[in-house]
Amino acid sequence: MQAEIITIGDELLLGQTVDTNSAWMGDELRQKGVAVNRVVSISDRPSEIKSALDEALSRVDFVLVTGGLGPTRDDVTKHTLADYFDTELVLNQPVLDRITAWFEGRGLKMLPSNRDQALLPEACLVLPNPRGTAMGMWFDTQRGGREKVVVSMPGVPYEMKGLMVEEVLPRMQSKWSLPIRYQRTVLTQGIGESFLSSIVHEWEERLESRGIGIAYLPAPGQVRLRLSATGEHARSLVDDAMNEFLNQAGEHVVADEGMTLEEALVAALGRAGANLSTAESCTGGSIAARLTAIPGSSAVFEGSIVAYANAVKINSLGVDAQLIKSHGAVSEEVVRAMAEGARTRLGTTYALATSGIAGPGGGTASKPVGTIWIALASSNGTSSRCLQLGNHRGRNVARTALECMGWLLRELRSA
Ligand code: AMP
Ligand code: MG
Repeated sequence: MQAEIITIGDELLLGQTVDTNSAWMGDELRQKGVAVNRVVSISDRPSEIKSALDEALSRVDFVLVTGGLGPTRDDVTKHTLADYFDTELVLNQPVLDRITAWFEGRGLKMLPSNRDQALLPEACLVLPNPRGTAMGMWFDTQRGGREKVVVSMPGVPYEMKGLMVEEVLPRMQSKWSLPIRYQRTVLTQGIGESFLSSIVHEWEERLESRGIGIAYLPAPGQVRLRLSATGEHARSLVDDAMNEFLNQAGEHVVADEGMTLEEALVAALGRAGANLSTAESCTGGSIAARLTAIPGSSAVFEGSIVAYANAVKINSLGVDAQLIKSHGAVSEEVVRAMAEGARTRLGTTYALATSGIAGPGGGTASKPVGTIWIALASSNGTSSRCLQLGNHRGRNVARTALECMGWLLRELRSA
């Protein structure tokens, strides 16, 4: 089955809003065995909406539309759809009751334009949206003797996602018999996409003939690898291939399925009954920020000392001033002392420390931009490593944070 996505909104064309809806929907549809063969973004103009619908319906059976359902004048999708499907807008009392309750629950005054949100095309199936006041609409139609469906959803991403998961995808799966699809993903860290691919080159070459799809989804410092297959043997095909991959490259894998490295680290620290502190110079608290973004991190993360200036390294972490004088702040000696200082002062099982030249300036011949020392202190002693990264400040900080977290995660696994 093939689908197309139409995202509506002037703001999408002006670059004020990035169309994240179609990316999310494309991924969901693919996982359910539906191929999206086109995504178009159009303005809030009835003529554009109608021609986009005509074109999409001439090619595919399922058209998903988002945007233009707000109560303001610039949102014209609902009226245009009523016109397009030659139907009237009628007051939907249950929806009006729901919208009224929505406003009362928030102590807000309801305006006539909010009330109009309960006027819905007579010919559609209304998909309830408990997250907002714009309902979803499901239109069954015909083209050339084929049954086709157009679904319209609000542009607000979290309302759209709720409608997709609760209403649209289940209805889609019961209307069309879709192939069984199975996929698994793993997250690797600290190895580039091409290096990873070269390690498993022979394995990768044979996947296609076995009916298994592979995708590398790279992000700075990390690569997510996805295997997928369709059909009744999909699960065993993918599981077998994934086990083969893990045998060859498992040491680079830090998390599986939808998990992030941060989530995997929080979980692993929890399982080990251990806790962590950080002493961060060049990462400026980024490791702490990434970890505290994970619900439940308070059980395993104690805190961070952002020791950017030498005085803070000395006064708050107890780094010997002489050490900084003789080796420089970006040095193995200092980063080790930072990790040990955090571990002792914050009383944690583990401590991670970073000190480096994040760039773009500040490098020297012996310590070029991208020279970053990291250290890990534990009851087994302190280890340190030097990373040689590039000269992009943001990427250096991100990669250093990931490298530190991946290091500790591997340490916890092998403990
Ligand atoms: P609308 O349903 O057109 O009133 O859109 C409501 C909100 O959702 C606006 O803030 C839009 O910027 C946002 N939005 C609309 N379409 C998209 C999209 N395709 N991706 C992400 N956000 C969107
Ligand atoms: Mg809009």
